[in-house]
Amino acid sequence: MSRFILKGDILYSETPSKLSTWKDGVLIVEDGVSKGVFPEVPASFANAPIHDYTGHLIIPGLIDLHLHAPQYAFRGMWMDEELLDWLNKHTFPIEARYKEAAFAEEAYKIFTQDLRRSATTRAVMFSTIHKEATIRLMEAMEETGLVSYVGKVNMDRHSPDILREESAQASVQDTIAWLDEVAGRFQNTHPIITPRFVPSCSDELMEGLGAIVKERGLPVQSHLSENYSEIEWVKQLSPDSANYGDAYDRFHLFGSEGKAIMAHCNHSPDEEVRLMKRRGTFVAHCPDSNANLASGIAPVRRYLDEGVHVGLGTDVAGGATVSLFTTIREAVQHSKLRWRLVDGELPWLTFAEAFFLATAGGGAFFGKVGSFAEGFAADALVLDEHGIPTPLMKELTPQERLERFIYLGHEGSVLHKYVQGVKLF
Ligand SMILES: [Zn+2]
Repeated sequence: MSRFILKGDILYSETPSKLSTWKDGVLIVEDGVSKGVFPEVPASFANAPIHDYTGHLIIPGLIDLHLHAPQYAFRGMWMDEELLDWLNKHTFPIEARYKEAAFAEEAYKIFTQDLRRSATTRAVMFSTIHKEATIRLMEAMEETGLVSYVGKVNMDRHSPDILREESAQASVQDTIAWLDEVAGRFQNTHPIITPRFVPSCSDELMEGLGAIVKERGLPVQSHLSENYSEIEWVKQLSPDSANYGDAYDRFHLFGSEGKAIMAHCNHSPDEEVRLMKRRGTFVAHCPDSNANLASGIAPVRRYLDEGVHVGLGTDVAGGATVSLFTTIREAVQHSKLRWRLVDGELPWLTFAEAFFLATAGGGAFFGKVGSFAEGFAADALVLDEHGIPTPLMKELTPQERLERFIYLGHEGSVLHKYVQGVKLF
């Protein structure tokens, strides 16, 4: 049995709106799982080694529910387009290059090394349509020690020739070949079924993917109600669906079989939200991307209050950074703009609520993850507040220090990272 103790100023979400705070607390870890946080070391753990980070903040690892690994290579560019133009002009041509093994290997090496150093402990990501490149990405992710879901993307229509699979049948066959090839190979890197979005996938392809999901009990990730033009397009392409979400649900790709993550959900009509609730669908809220691509402001307060599963996504490279600290901050800011400009009835998110989304909210997709309550995975970050100027007026509480860190800190300020009780650095 492996046991150790993390000591420091510990914070985690007790509920969506309340942070549990422990100045000079101890987090007990046994076999990769939290046994809880205490003011002092309990007698039964008196002999366990202590990793002493006194004076430092310790928080649960952050969860990225939505990003595109191949797009990391061009993050921070072409941020003056809307979604569909951005995809066609820039994203699709670069994703097509992942057909070249050497390019994919180099790009994914850089991406996975940076993700390992970031605040992210678990992530759910898109690859491209390419089987070999997807396997390279899974190998590289496994080496990081992070926990992830990686999806080979499916696209058989309305995509350029260079980034379109030959037919629905070819796409399904390639997906099955990929799943068979990676089955049982990795401990922390799991496959996830990934229809890019309704416009890219024919009904025949969706039907084939739904059959795989049913047969193998796999989770699904895709995009939903992100942008007005996209929503209109889906209405034309799928006239028999009651709404965009139903266009996935009719093929068992919305959480009725296995879990599903839908990125964005900025403009979901009431009946789509009801369907999300019924299916237990996870919303990945991606504020950075929603601003960069002028997509909209998701009603996250509503999702939280109505009990829809919701977490945060960086949506690299619609979002420019893998730093979920940025995403937490932007989730609060966007909710305030929404309150001011769209719906004064829907209060903004508090800092504690945005922090919950980045930890336990998204963590629920992985099981008991994103908290230090007893029984949760021991995924932890020790933060480096060095370089953040101390205010003159008073001594700060741990929560004030955390908020300040998130507003003023930067991507490189994670001092130590633990995943499932394993220290990565
Ligand atoms: Zn996306």
